[in-house]
Amino acid sequence: MRPLFLFALLLSSSSVTHAQDLAVVGAKVYASPTATPVDDATIVIRAGKIVAVGKHVSVPAGVKTLPCADCVVFAGFWNTHVHFMEAKGMDASSQPADKLTRQVQEMVTLSGFTTVVDTASFPDITVSLRRRIESGEVLGPRIYTAGVGLFPPHALPYYIKGLPPELLAQLPQPDTPAEAAEDVRKNIAAGSDIVKLFTGSIVEPEHIVPMPVDIATAAVAVGHEHGQLVFAHTTNLAGTRVAMQSGVDVLAHAPEVVEEIDDNLLHQMVALHMSMIPTLKLFSRDSNIAGIRAEVFKFHQFGGVLMFGTDTGFLQDYDVKEEYHQLALAGFSYYDVLAMLTTAPAQRFHVADQEGSIAVGKKGDLTVLSADPASDPLAFAKVRYAIREGKVIASAATTASGK
Ligand SMILES: [Zn+2]
Repeated sequence: MRPLFLFALLLSSSSVTHAQDLAVVGAKVYASPTATPVDDATIVIRAGKIVAVGKHVSVPAGVKTLPCADCVVFAGFWNTHVHFMEAKGMDASSQPADKLTRQVQEMVTLSGFTTVVDTASFPDITVSLRRRIESGEVLGPRIYTAGVGLFPPHALPYYIKGLPPELLAQLPQPDTPAEAAEDVRKNIAAGSDIVKLFTGSIVEPEHIVPMPVDIATAAVAVGHEHGQLVFAHTTNLAGTRVAMQSGVDVLAHAPEVVEEIDDNLLHQMVALHMSMIPTLKLFSRDSNIAGIRAEVFKFHQFGGVLMFGTDTGFLQDYDVKEEYHQLALAGFSYYDVLAMLTTAPAQRFHVADQEGSIAVGKKGDLTVLSADPASDPLAFAKVRYAIREGKVIASAATTASGK
């Protein structure tokens, strides 16, 4: 590669402001969900990328070391269902950087997430926040965003009706396929990189309105033309059928009206290569949570790919332990959960060559725990550091003592 071209590539990469040198020393390292853990291992990151990993790796002079003898280290975790839409984030373009960093730490990075997927919010918030993170001013995760979600005509969900009127007015409810296509194009122009559809909108607790298939299909087509994944909140059978018929890629939640979802439908979803984000914590107080857990586990057994997500930001309690607890109750092993957190989303977002596992040449995104989830599922929540491209973006120690 010619030096000039390489330089241009570096300039265009969003990683430039994060890329740092760091050596994590003496840790137990799980390179991937299928790899045997290696004790007393060292990971060396240079200019944001992993350049060495293993036992007996020496740290080059000048590289900052992070002694980590009691650490358990994984590739950076993904949370594929969050929202940056809370009131405190509304002025993301003007808030002090350290305040935003703290909010993002509380919300996601102190839970170990180095990449998050914002599955619908307002571009003013998320795109501003992302810009400030990417400039290096605010410490935060890599963010994918859906921009505003699309709703069926005249069918906003009851649980968002309390939003300020000026925000509600921004929510598209396209009446025609052409309007839906235009709404997706507007989102893309505003900086979104996935599409979010409410194919089963819960307008009242017992009243779910499906999105017309032709409207969903038009929205999906524009997303796919731009190489974007399409996420859907499907809720029940009707909403799930719309998602299946229109070509949706990812169910943002397990369908919660489980009595309508039979094995045959789950098999069809798997055959369509749909992925699912369980978001079990969201349903954990529902009377049918056991049924939702069983549905998610069956989908997985039938070959369906699951990705980790918590609906953080819609849920204002950011604690992730309940999600890990529910996944364990559903029957998932630590190996399954680690795949949901790392390899599965990296593959689904077509970045598995750079993310999702610890290997030379990949990004230096690491989630460092203080306990081993192989023996305790809740240890996934015992986060010591979140490291993005060699830079510590959240540290449990400094938060505890620095407040
Ligand atoms: Zn959500």
